[in-house]
Amino acid sequence: MVNKRIEMQHDKKIALVAHDNKKSDLVEWAKFNRDLLAHHIIYATGTTGEFLEKELGLNVQKLQSGPLGGDQQIGAKIAEGAIDFLIFFWDPLEPQPHDPDVKALLRMAVVWNIPTACNRATADFMISSPLMDDEYDRLVPDYDVYRKRRIIIDD
Ligand code: PGA
Repeated sequence: MVNKRIEMQHDKKIALVAHDNKKSDLVEWAKFNRDLLAHHIIYATGTTGEFLEKELGLNVQKLQSGPLGGDQQIGAKIAEGAIDFLIFFWDPLEPQPHDPDVKALLRMAVVWNIPTACNRATADFMISSPLMDDEYDRLVPDYDVYRKRRIIIDD
């Protein structure tokens, strides 16, 4: 499939999400990286966002709480090009009431080739990448091929 380029600006639109058992981890990570995060545009699910605002003193665009639709909102924003970077500390040891939404969000991140960190080590590597403070073109399959696929409708 042919690829299209989607430009990521110097100031990236970053979504931060953490399940309850991972919130301390994310807050600690974000505090450590506060200066690196400061010039980016930060989105978060509701409760994660409250903690980040309080602990970092940065402006956070807070969406619904994850189980109330926040993960879906982030997925929708990825699909419309409004979010281009995802840090999602999900909990591998606890079933979540919104497991289908978690799966859907991670799927959207792959569909749109969004840099995604699901644990702290990956987040460390991503935030310290020289690409972080550059413009960067993400390659995304040209989905027009998919949109124009042939479908036969029976009479
Ligand atoms: P929360 O949602 O930040 O509102 O707790 C996180 C999630 O469970 O997706």
